[in-house]
Amino acid sequence: PDKKVKVVYEKPIDFTKIDTNLLPTVIIIGRPNVGKSALYNRLIRRREALVYNTPADHVTRDIREGIAKLGDLRFKVLDSAGLETEAASGSILQRTTSMTANVLARTQFAVFLIDVRAGLHPLDLDVGKWFRKNAPGIKPIVAMNKSESLCDGVGSISDAADEARMLGFGDPIAISAETGLGMAALHDALQPLIEDYMLQVLNRRPNVGKSTLLNTLLQEERVLVGPEVGLTRDSVRTQFQHEGRTIYLVDTAGWLQRTGLEKGPSSLSVMQSRKNLMRAQVVALVLDAEEIVKARRSMTHAEVVIARRAVEEGRGLVVIVNKMDLLKGKRNSTSFDKVMEAVPVEIQTVIPQITGIPVVFTSALEGRGRIAVMRQVIDTYEKWCSRLSTSRLNRWLRKIMSRHSWKDQAAQPKIKYFTQVKARPPTFVAFTNGKTQLSDTDLRFLTKSLKEDFDLGGIPIRIMQRCAP
Ligand code: GDP
Ligand code: GDP
Repeated sequence: PDKKVKVVYEKPIDFTKIDTNLLPTVIIIGRPNVGKSALYNRLIRRREALVYNTPADHVTRDIREGIAKLGDLRFKVLDSAGLETEAASGSILQRTTSMTANVLARTQFAVFLIDVRAGLHPLDLDVGKWFRKNAPGIKPIVAMNKSESLCDGVGSISDAADEARMLGFGDPIAISAETGLGMAALHDALQPLIEDYMLQVLNRRPNVGKSTLLNTLLQEERVLVGPEVGLTRDSVRTQFQHEGRTIYLVDTAGWLQRTGLEKGPSSLSVMQSRKNLMRAQVVALVLDAEEIVKARRSMTHAEVVIARRAVEEGRGLVVIVNKMDLLKGKRNSTSFDKVMEAVPVEIQTVIPQITGIPVVFTSALEGRGRIAVMRQVIDTYEKWCSRLSTSRLNRWLRKIMSRHSWKDQAAQPKIKYFTQVKARPPTFVAFTNGKTQLSDTDLRFLTKSLKEDFDLGGIPIRIMQRCAP
C-alpha cells in the first residue's frame, strides 16, 4: 500500500499536545500592588493552581503555580507574590532565601510588572536590582500594567515607556491585567522565547550528520581558516575557497543538540544561533533520511521553525537530506524513492512562504552529493543577490497582466510600474495610484509570477506598495 508521507503543520508547535511538565516557567515579578495576582489569574483563567508548601519562613507567602493559556501558547506561570517582600525591600536586598533561589532556578522567563499610573517607583528599581542579582540569565519582559487607565493617548503611554526603559530591560509593553488589553503584545513577546525553549526540549533528532557533511564538503576544498570555534561553544566557523569564492561556513552545532534544561547558557546559545542565522546569506538545513522514514515526516517541529525563521529573516534556504545510503538496503529499497519524491513536496507544504526550495540528497559517509550541495548553495546565493532592471520588470508586468485571466477588468490590480529597490533578498516596489490598495491575493500573484518567471526559487521575495508620484 502506498503510504505517502503527508503532514500538514498548522502551527510550528502544538502546545495542547505537550506534556505540561515539559513547559517552561514564566515568573511574574514586581513590587506589591502592581497587579501580579490579577495577571496570574487572567493567564490561568481559573485553571487548577498548585500552591507551594512554603517553608516556615516568615518573609515569604505562598507561591502559586498554574498552567497559563495565552492564545496558542502554554506555559507554567508563577505568581511571585510570595517573594515580593524580599524583592521589594531594600533593606533585605542582600539576603537571598533558599526559597528564592529554588524558585528562580526553576524559572526560564519573567514578566516584570510596573504600575503605569504610578510611574516608575523606587521599589521597581529595587525589584530590578534584586532580579538582576538573583536571576542574571533572564531578561524580563517589562509590562506596564493598568494601561487601560491611560486613555487620553496624548503621549502618556510613551512617556511611561521612556521611564520604564530606565529599568534597563529594554522596551516595555502596555497591558491591563484587568481588562485584557495588551495580551496580544504579551503573547508576541513571549512566543519566540517559549518556542525556542520548546525546540530544545522537543528536538529528538540531533545527529543528522552535519559534522560529517562538513568534512565531506571541506575535503576537496582549500581550507583557509578553521574549523575555528566561534564566539560561543556552539558555533564553528570555517573559511574555505570554492571555485574562486571565499565561503564562510557556520555550523550551529549546539542549537539543536542541547536537550538539557539548564537555563542561562542554553538561552544564550539560542540567541547566538539566531545571530548566526542573521549573519548567514544562505541557510542549509540538514535532515536525516533515516529519521524521515521512521517518523514518517520530513521535518520535526524544530526543523520547521528554523526553516521558517530563516525565511522570515530573509535568508535563502537549501534543504539537505543526508544519510541516503541507509535507505538503499534490502528492507528499505522503496523508501529511497519515496523520500526523494515526498520530501520536496512536503517541505513545500510546510514552508509555503517560498517556492522552489532546493532539496539535495546526500550521503556524507559515502561522500555523495557534495557537488550538488555547493551548486545549490551558490545558486541560491546568486538568486538572493540578483537585480532585475526596471525595464525588464515592466515588460514582464505587462506580460503577466495580459496573460492572467481576470474575473473582470476591476479585479486586475492597477499597477503603474514595478521596480526592484534592493537585493539580498530581492525587494520590489509596486507603484500604484493613490486609490489602489493591493490585496494579499495580488501580492501572492505577483510573488508567484516573479519566482516562476525569473527562477527565484528558494529565496524569500518582498514586495511593497507605494503611491506613484
Ligand atoms: P499584586 O500585589 O502585584 O499581586 O497586585 P494585585 O493583583 O493584587 O492588584 C493590586 C490592585 O491593582 C488590585 O486592586 C487590582 O484590582 C488592581 N489592578 C490589577 N490590575 C489592574 C489593571 O490592569 N488595571 C487597573 N485599573 N487595576 C488593576
Ligand atoms: P551532527 O551531530 O549533525 O554533526 O552529526 P555527525 O556528523 O556527528 O554524525 C552523526 C552520526 O551519523 C555519525 O555516527 C556519522 O558517522 C553518521 N553519519 C553522518 N552522515 C552519514 C551518512 O551520510 N550516512 C550514514 N549512514 N551515516 C552518517
